Amino acid sequence: MIYGKIVLAGNPNVGKSTLFNSLTGMKQHTGNWSGKTVGTAKGRFKAGGKEIELIDLPGTYSLITDSAEEEITRNFLCFEEFDGAVILCDACCLERGLIFALQTAQLIPKTLLCVNMLDDAEKKGIKIDIKALSEETGLPAIGISAAKGEGIEELKAAMLKLLEEPAPEFIPIRYPKALENAIKALAPAVFEDFGFKTVFPVLRVLENEHGFALELEKCFGHGEKTASEREKAILHLADEGIAEEDIAAKIASCNVFRAEEICLSAVSASRSEHRLKDDRIDSVLTGRLLGIPIMLLLFGFIFWITVSGANYPSAWLSLAFEKVGTWLEALLSAANAPLVLKSLLVDGVWKVLGWVVAVMLPPMAIFFPLFTILEDIGYLPRVAFNLDRGFKSAGACGKQALTMCMGLGCGAVGVTGARIIDSPRERLISIITNSFMPCNGRLPAIIALTSMFFTDSSVLGAAILTLAVAFSVLMTFIVSKILSKTVLKGVPTGFTLELPPYRMPDFGKVIIRSIFDRTLKILWRAIIVAVPAGIIIWLCSNIIIDGRTVLGILSAAFDPFAKIFGLDGTIFCGFLLSFPANEIALPIMAMGYAGGELSELGSMAKTAALFSANGFSGITALCTAIFFLFHWPCATTLITIQKETKSIKWVLLSTVVPLITGLSLCFFINIMSKLFL
Ligand code: GDP
Repeated sequence: MIYGKIVLAGNPNVGKSTLFNSLTGMKQHTGNWSGKTVGTAKGRFKAGGKEIELIDLPGTYSLITDSAEEEITRNFLCFEEFDGAVILCDACCLERGLIFALQTAQLIPKTLLCVNMLDDAEKKGIKIDIKALSEETGLPAIGISAAKGEGIEELKAAMLKLLEEPAPEFIPIRYPKALENAIKALAPAVFEDFGFKTVFPVLRVLENEHGFALELEKCFGHGEKTASEREKAILHLADEGIAEEDIAAKIASCNVFRAEEICLSAVSASRSEHRLKDDRIDSVLTGRLLGIPIMLLLFGFIFWITVSGANYPSAWLSLAFEKVGTWLEALLSAANAPLVLKSLLVDGVWKVLGWVVAVMLPPMAIFFPLFTILEDIGYLPRVAFNLDRGFKSAGACGKQALTMCMGLGCGAVGVTGARIIDSPRERLISIITNSFMPCNGRLPAIIALTSMFFTDSSVLGAAILTLAVAFSVLMTFIVSKILSKTVLKGVPTGFTLELPPYRMPDFGKVIIRSIFDRTLKILWRAIIVAVPAGIIIWLCSNIIIDGRTVLGILSAAFDPFAKIFGLDGTIFCGFLLSFPANEIALPIMAMGYAGGELSELGSMAKTAALFSANGFSGITALCTAIFFLFHWPCATTLITIQKETKSIKWVLLSTVVPLITGLSLCFFINIMSKLFL
């Protein structure tokens, strides 16, 4: 039985997921940048023998918000049932966390203040006086280092106490006399109409906060009494010299001022030195001159390690699969299995599976940990900062750079991640152009095509890959601009991008997390698609109608159309049949060319020879790579887009936009090659 329910909230990037995981033993995604947690997560833990449910809410700077992501937290805190709240703050920037904590304390009397990252603060010369903090805020407070597991037991005890003891009686913020009077006068009506008991909703009603007013109306209707009391209160305030339009700013400044005051008495710091160090690094990494070249070099370096490191394990894996394949064949022969079944299992299922694992696993197992390190160090927000101007001039939002980075891992994750963008218009632009980033189903295919047809030098290969991603970013700018001038017209909204402090990542955790959370998860998805796909592909290439295989008939049907775009029917079939997961596109093409048998399993040289023998030239490879970058999103991503936008119109547009982009580019390359080569 659950003894109590506690919510965990705080600014983005303060260690909520780390703490949630450490308390509940679950595996939420963590990383040093804001906006990763876009939904709520639930887990349980025991304190003093009692079971407590913990609900992790998306990171939020404020409860006064119009942003979709922050609304989840605001609505949960305002309208759901729970017994207490833990507000997690970063010891290195306590003031910002306190602003949020004070807002929450005005909504939820049972609020516990938890200051995380004490280890980091100590290194930076920042000291937090937890006792003073508790006295000043009137809230129970505790200090921890979630990543090191320090203070967790004390926190559990404090959470239990929070549930057991009555809420503290305190007034966290004082407002000017006139405002205090208005709050007092309005409160009974708000409590009666909407069932609240604390001051937060009264403040929002008084300042007529748009998002909150909408939510109140949705949940409780108009609230007649509140409306008339508010009118009276506004008149009184006007008499006292406070105009209606100034109320919100006055309330906000009291909140900020109080947080500053509390910090003055609870924080002693010689932090400027560390800030200066971060600022110095930022002046280079986000500088106008070097920011973008360094970014390209860094990504180039990561791709180089990925390309050069993946070759050997790929070759070993394909050999291993080939060996096991021969044993499997021998085993089936010994069991007198029918020839058709043997071919279906070995040539169809096993070989497609082997291809997917051998070609995909090594680059992912190298790329993801490296990428996660960049994420944990805090470099990704700097990428967003560098690309911000580009996105602004494209009429989009700089945060789109972050969703693009998520898309580099998985399109569906990038689409969900777009919730961090506040404006619905800019969010849609980000969702529609998200598939321009090669996800890890397409990245290994592009690596394979590069090494088969362009260069076997890993340095050149990495340079080509970096160029490909840079080109994707450029196309994202161009198409975002077109969208913002046509179907998604509007002016870009401003936003302040938080640059988190640089942090040394925990390398062991990074590797474990990126292997288990990302690599294996994505590989598993590819495998469960590869097995049925192997069967279908085998059937398509072995069922013979009028002397031709089904794949052959389909390929021939698409051939004239595909040729206009520098592709061929088999390649086009590969893309069509890999709709469930892009990972299987290349093996389908290989099987199509080989007439049903995937005998050249995973060996790049043999596959290249097979492709070349079927008229696959350098230009074909280039067009195929471009089409890999820009075609339609995979089925999972489209389902996610439908879920996020709740509109078939945007799903269609998200399919058509990359498709038209890809076809136009391929057409152009094909024509140019015909004219000049
Ligand atoms: P969330 O956005 O609030 O969920 O934050 P995360 O749990 O993803 O943590 C953000 C970053 O801070 C990650 O890189 C964590 O490894 C790191 N982190 C979390 N807790 C601590 C801590 O106590 N000390 C230090 N030094 N780093 C931490």
